[in-house]
Formats: sequence, C-alpha cells, structure tokens
Amino acid sequence: MTRIDIELRRLELPLVRPFRTSKGEETARDVLMARWREEGPDGVIEGWAECAADAEPTYFPETINDVTSCVTEVLVPRLAGLAAAGPLTVGGLRAAFASVPGHPIARGLLESALLDAQLRRHGMSLVDFLGSARRPIAVGVSVGIPGDIDTLLSWVEGYLRDGYRRVKLKIEPGWDVAPVRAVREAFGDDLPLQVDANQAYSAADIPLLSRLDAFGLLLIEQPFARHELLAHAALAARHGTPVCLDESILSLDDAMTAIRLGAADIVNIKPSRVGGYLTARSIHDVCLANGIPVFCGGTLETAVGRASNLALATLPGFTLPGDISATSRYFARDIGASFELVDGALVAPSGPGTGVDVDLDAVEDFTTSAQWVSVGSA
Ligand code: MG
Repeated sequence: MTRIDIELRRLELPLVRPFRTSKGEETARDVLMARWREEGPDGVIEGWAECAADAEPTYFPETINDVTSCVTEVLVPRLAGLAAAGPLTVGGLRAAFASVPGHPIARGLLESALLDAQLRRHGMSLVDFLGSARRPIAVGVSVGIPGDIDTLLSWVEGYLRDGYRRVKLKIEPGWDVAPVRAVREAFGDDLPLQVDANQAYSAADIPLLSRLDAFGLLLIEQPFARHELLAHAALAARHGTPVCLDESILSLDDAMTAIRLGAADIVNIKPSRVGGYLTARSIHDVCLANGIPVFCGGTLETAVGRASNLALATLPGFTLPGDISATSRYFARDIGASFELVDGALVAPSGPGTGVDVDLDAVEDFTTSAQWVSVGSA
C-alpha cells in the first residue's frame, strides 16, 4: 500500500529586473510548484515539478487558479484507488487522465512531479530517461522591451559580456524594425539574433514584418495569434525570415498540424505547456523526422524547471540555442542550486530525476499559499 499526497505551493520569487513583453510586465515570478510525496514499503520519496501557468491567461490559456482547481477537483480524484497496487506509474497516470480533455499544463504538472519521484526512486536522471546524453547546451538570452534604444543596447552589451551566444529581442508594434536595426548596427551581422512577438501582430502586418528580412534574423517567433496557423503559413511561404511557432504548439497534434500546413519552419518547445516531458519529446521526434529544428523555450523558470528543460534540450533535434538563461539573469535567490554559464552553455545536473535538491527553506520563504491534497485509497 502506498500513500500519495500532493502539495501545491504558490511561490513569489523577486526578479532582478522587470521583464516586459508585448503581453505585459512582471517584477516577480509568481509560480506554482507541485510536490509529489509517496510513502510506501520502501520509505518516503518526493518529486517536484514546476507549472508554467501565470496568474492571468495573457500567455497560456490555463491560469494558476485553473491548474489548482483542475488538479485538486478533477485530476487527483481520478487517481483514487490506483495506489493500492503499488507505486503509480506515468503510464497509469496518463490512463487515469485520458478522459480529461485539454488542461495540458495541469496534467503535465502532475506527470512531471510523479516522473521526478519515480526517477529518484530508481536513481535515474531525466537525461537518461529521455534516452539522451548529457552535453553542454548553448543558451541564448531573451531581452524584454525597455523604454528606449540606448537602454536596449546597454542590456544587450551586458548579456554578450556575460557570455550569451544568441540574443532574442521581444518585439511589438512600434518596437520592431528600429530596435533590430540598432542592435545589428551596434553588434554586427554575425550576432545570432532573433525576435519574438508573442502574438502581437496580425496577417495585415506581413508587409511590415517583411522589412525584418533585411537583418538576417535566425527566426521570427509567434508573430500572430495562437490559432492563426494559416497566417503563419502565409508568412512562412514567403521564404524570408524563418517562422517559429511557440504559443501555437500546445500538443503533439498542434505540432503535426502546423508542420503539415507549412506554418512552422522552427518550433519552440516548452515542456510544461505541452503536458510534460514525454509529450515534449514526442514533439521533438516529429519535428526531427520532418527536418524542423527545435529549441527549448522558457518562462522564467526556477531551478526545477530550468534543470528539466536542460535535460530535454540534450535531445539531438535541439540544434538552436535554448531560452534557458543562467539563474542570475532572473533571480538573486532560487529554490535550488544556481546555474551559471560556462562558455555560453549550461549543463543539466547529473543526479536522479531533475537532479535539483529543492531548498525547502527558500521554498518556505517564497511561499504565498500552500495546500496538500491526498490521493484517496478507494
Ligand atoms: Mg516565445
């Protein structure tokens, strides 16, 4: 008989610098964590996972409150009785949730927490579980929207000094061609440079966005709304700046549809958004088979999400630098060990599961709310 309890902890980690995109500004990372705790014949084992949802549905459709209610009222009750036969498996979890449509972030949060616990039980790292091999992952930096060009240039200069190998500029209407031109003029044509619009444009802006072709960008990420695959396909059909999809890809089906429509030259895979690391690997596999390069996106992760994303990014299709910055880019203090750049790259931890030892004191200090929910035995 195994007893399973799941803790949902909402944390607030101060950011070292406000982060502004076309969707708004954050001064702290408001993040939900899940802690999977199993108590059985072998003792107690715990796993942690991080939720990508925000307080408001400005970026992902699911919010923190949506995830919390889905986990406590819909998903966990479906696990009742399953623990009687021994430790719950990821396959058992997926089968139990098969009748729940949507909610990939909520489902993925529990799956990732269980996976971390199970891997720790077996002493296996997430990298090994994914069938990959540890390697340094070249990482880029995502630069928010400052008030003026001079501030932008000073930020970029600082990040390049820190060792980042690729720069991603957040853009929005009124902040697109000019900042890209300024960064190109200041730092040269060899700087690997890309832009991310976070859905801020419409198909009517294709002529405007075409002006970015002159700057030799690696890609333009998610210029149009999430569901506007045909608009993205129209932009991609011009064969100008490669088109990358991010918010549009919430599932393996989304990825296959986008590829079939010609809407994506590149895909940004965010594991927590698509329902966890197994689905993320499936999307990677489909993209690799279709010659679509991928990179691993980020959402201002804590050490737990950062380590997991680094593990995923070791898979061979991740040929572009990921948005997996060093800890110091976002936080002065994290809930696990810091990740710092070495030659512009980060390396996934080698320990079991995510390899992150969660600092419970830090978790306590950052906690804004917490609740336990037990998996019933019948
Ligand atoms: Mg993006």
